[in-house]
Amino acid sequence: MAEFAAYEGRGPERAGVEEGLLNGVQKFLDGQLRRIRAAVASGRTRIGEDDAFWAEEETLFRASFLDRLLKAVMELIELVISDAQEQVGGGADWAGTNAEAAAWARGYVGELITRVTETTRAAVRETTAAWIETGAKLPDLVKVLKPTFGERRAQLIAATEVTRAFDEANDLTRQRLGLPRALKKAPAHPGCRCATRAVLLPNGEWVVVWYTVRGDRVCKQPLSTPWGRVNGCRDLHGMIVSEKYGGRRLSEVRAEVGR
Ligand SMILES: [Zn+2]
Repeated sequence: MAEFAAYEGRGPERAGVEEGLLNGVQKFLDGQLRRIRAAVASGRTRIGEDDAFWAEEETLFRASFLDRLLKAVMELIELVISDAQEQVGGGADWAGTNAEAAAWARGYVGELITRVTETTRAAVRETTAAWIETGAKLPDLVKVLKPTFGERRAQLIAATEVTRAFDEANDLTRQRLGLPRALKKAPAHPGCRCATRAVLLPNGEWVVVWYTVRGDRVCKQPLSTPWGRVNGCRDLHGMIVSEKYGGRRLSEVRAEVGR
């Protein structure tokens, strides 16, 4: 089994998937900002309230992104399944696991597209309302919309969604194999790259453990867990997040059941 501190949640492979996603998301957001600008310039100033506009945007996002996202999620699932195969070994129904994961990926990607579009719309609605109050000049609007459509947001979406897909796939695969379910999954916050992983205790019981990636060890923002508040991903590192022993440190439980 992989050494505790060494596991970085398939970091390099995930970084590759994230990079591909980032480029696509950034391109889409650039185009979306241009369409918003054009709509507002033609007099549709309350663009945040415009249901037809956002329905069309979601359709465009889906058309340009569904296949690419699905491919990215399936790449993550392959990593997850091969890790699980290595950890748990033979005997499981891997073909069934694969088929179930593929079905899940479709639903997940659909939700992701809706979720990202809704977040964008909410930000645009708030920003344009404030912009109208302050005088409604078009260059000002483009400036205040920048955080919603800029590189930083694209990076956050790519990082967060790769983490979410990876950890959801982890959890789904583990449950399929009869391992415990995670009661807290990554991402813990936007931009989080942590992951959960099954660990076999010396007494033969499986638990799921949170692994905080190196970059997130400085993260101290208060997070809620089923076992109370913790100070960021830093505190989650090495915590058992499945039901039995949940909220306790792996090292402590390992020593306790190790004998
Ligand atoms: Zn994290």
